[in-house]
Parts: sequence; C-alpha cells; structure tokens
Amino acid sequence: MKNIGVILLLLSAMFAAVSCKEKETIDLLISNTSIISVENEAIEENKDILIKEGKIFGISNHKKSYNAYTIKEKINAEGKFVMPSLIDMHVHIPDGLSKTILPMYFANGISLVRSMRAVDSYSKIKEGLSDKYYYPSIYFSSPTISRKLDFDSEEVDSLFSKYAIDGYDFTKILSVKDSTVFKNIVTSAEKYNIELAGHYLPNIPKSLFYKANYKTVEHLGGFIHNDSLDLSSLKEFITRNIYMCPTLNWYYISDKIIEENQILNKEEYSRFIPNNILEIWKERYISKNKNVTDYTNRIKAVENINAVAPELIIAGGDSNIYIVPGFGLYDELNRLEDAGLSPFQILKTATVNSAKCLNIFDKTGSVDIGKEASLLILNENPIMNLSSLKNIYGIFYKNRYSDRTTLDLILKKSISELKKTDRW
Ligand SMILES: [Zn+2]
Repeated sequence: MKNIGVILLLLSAMFAAVSCKEKETIDLLISNTSIISVENEAIEENKDILIKEGKIFGISNHKKSYNAYTIKEKINAEGKFVMPSLIDMHVHIPDGLSKTILPMYFANGISLVRSMRAVDSYSKIKEGLSDKYYYPSIYFSSPTISRKLDFDSEEVDSLFSKYAIDGYDFTKILSVKDSTVFKNIVTSAEKYNIELAGHYLPNIPKSLFYKANYKTVEHLGGFIHNDSLDLSSLKEFITRNIYMCPTLNWYYISDKIIEENQILNKEEYSRFIPNNILEIWKERYISKNKNVTDYTNRIKAVENINAVAPELIIAGGDSNIYIVPGFGLYDELNRLEDAGLSPFQILKTATVNSAKCLNIFDKTGSVDIGKEASLLILNENPIMNLSSLKNIYGIFYKNRYSDRTTLDLILKKSISELKKTDRW
C-alpha cells in the first residue's frame, strides 16, 4: 500500500510538471498588428506579439488561438501600429519637479530620457524610479563640469572617483577652464570608466578635444560658429563616430524662425504652462534676435550628417522656453523632417540610434524577441504621417499596459500640479 501511495504521488508530480511545461503563462498578447521594424525600415503586417515578464517572448504571424499558453491579457491591435517606445537624449529635469515632469515623458511614449544636468534630488529620483510604472528610465549625468572648475589632477581624480561611486552614467561638460584642466578630466574619466558628453569646447585645441572620445556632442557645436558652417570639422566628428544631438527645435525658437503666435497656438502651452511662466518665456523670446543664417546652417549641417552617417544623429527635446517636457521631442522630430530625414531615419534617431549610443541596443530600442517590451501602440502609421506618433492608443512598459484613458489621467495630474507651480 505504501508503494502505491508513493507511485501515485510521483505520477501526480510528473503530471503537474508536464502540464506546467505545456501551459506557459503569457502576460500579454498584442494580436494582429503591424510592427514597425525601425531598424530594417519595414512594416510587418498581421503579427502577434507575446510578452512575458516584461520581455518580448515571441513574435509570429497572426493566429486565432494560442492553446499552448495561458494568456493573461489580450489586446486586439488590428489596424494599429506597434513600434519601440521613444528615447529622448537631451532633457533637463527641474529640481523638485521630477514627480510632475517625468510622467509627461512617459505619457508621450518616451521610456528613457538622458538627463543632461544632475539635480540635488538625484539619488532620491533614482531610488523612486523602479516602483513607478509611469516614470521613464533615466540615464543620469553627474553634476556638469563648467569653466568654474579649477581643480588640479588630484582634485579632479577624487571628483570622478566620487561620480563613479555615486553611480552616474556619464558626465556632461558645459565648458572647461583650459587645456590642463581638460586633460585631467579626460584622464580621470578614462580611469573611472565614465563617458564624457556635452558641449564642444572652443578654447581647447581640436586635436586635444578629439582625444577625449566624447560620446555625444550637443547643439552641433564644433562646426557652426559665427554664422558659418565648417564642413571639414564636421567630417572629423563623423570619422570619430561622435553621436550628434542637434536640438534643432531650440534654435528654431531662439533664432526666431517660428513666430511667437504660431508657438502659442499649440494646445500643450495653454494646457500645461502656468501664465506667469508664459509671461517669463515671452520676455525671453522678445529679447532674442532673429537669425535665419544660423538656423539655415544648422539645417545644412544635419543634411550633411544625414547624407553620410545618419546613424550618428540622435534626437533630444531639450528644455527651454517654449519647449514642454515630453512634447518637445515631437517638435525636434519635426525639425529633423525639415532637414530631409526620411520617416524611418527620424524614428531611428529616437530609438535605434539612441539605444546604440547608450550601448543598450541588445536590450531595447527595437521590437525583437528577447528584448525589453517597451512598446508604443499607435492608432495610425507614423511612417505615413509623423504626427501619428502623438496619436497613442496604449503603451506597454515595465510589464504593464497603460491604455489611452490611463495616459490622459497621468497628463491631467501633471497639468494640475504644473499650474500650481511658480518655477520651471
Ligand atoms: Zn540642454
């Protein structure tokens, strides 16, 4: 009798094991959709995407049923378009406003931002990132380096050793005092394995600047100065595989290419920006000079990069007057369209190129099996019309699906908080 009991027990254990193996649990099935394969510049129709534990578990041609799996949640995405979520490579998170600002990126389909300025609450934000599904991931700069820093080699060394301990992802350089300080920065950054990025440094010899192995250069610095475009320097950047974040939209505003009343027509300004902030923005806009030559050169520069090395263009919304967090990236993508990038090339700047620049393309940045399921489900095809990027049906991120209603609620909460604030 004892033996029979043991055999029965073994049999039931085996049965349980077999049935477990047969019925794999899938968290989400996105059914019968079109996948925008940004990297391959193709649209794959009638596809099913299976997601498990936050990763893309399978992609197959559309099937009516999946008997082999237990499907927890299913979205019928017929007529919709699925693409990787967006990366904004140049943002500034105002200190104390991160809880309000970060959800605005998320609700606009941006799952990763590169923060170009460290904020005092850096460690607090970093801690809080993982438990909020409506926060994008952040690639953090340490406190920025500027010409005010006048450290000797030992002091620079201890500064970078601290940055490494604090876990910053890179260091943004705004400006440097002189070549000596710069050499020390480069040596320490290399020693502690911290990437450098940021502004081009006109007071440093070009040969020394190139040795620094900058990962990215912002605002097309280094080949646009005093209303002229220096194509031979641009070539040097391309040869060295330096990624370039043009932030064209900022110059579109500050060079006064766009008229103020055209900017203010956009609904996000009236919805998000408190009146007192709009007044400040207005004053700052008025103080600027119209500079068509500068903007034309910037467009030409991007055309030139795009002709030979489109993979080096990365998109950043930046934050400044008349640029609303989250929405700013769409504006930048529109400017890249002005510079002649094709729709696929434009999408690459905010997905594939950025993920490659951050060395995370093996994990994210495309809709592929095994990668993070950070996905946008769009109502319309953005390849036909770029503004469809704003027409989001739902977002899947951190193993959680947020539908349009949820995204609108998130934005509504940010609006009410922003309307109360008197800083920006
Ligand atoms: Zn900036």
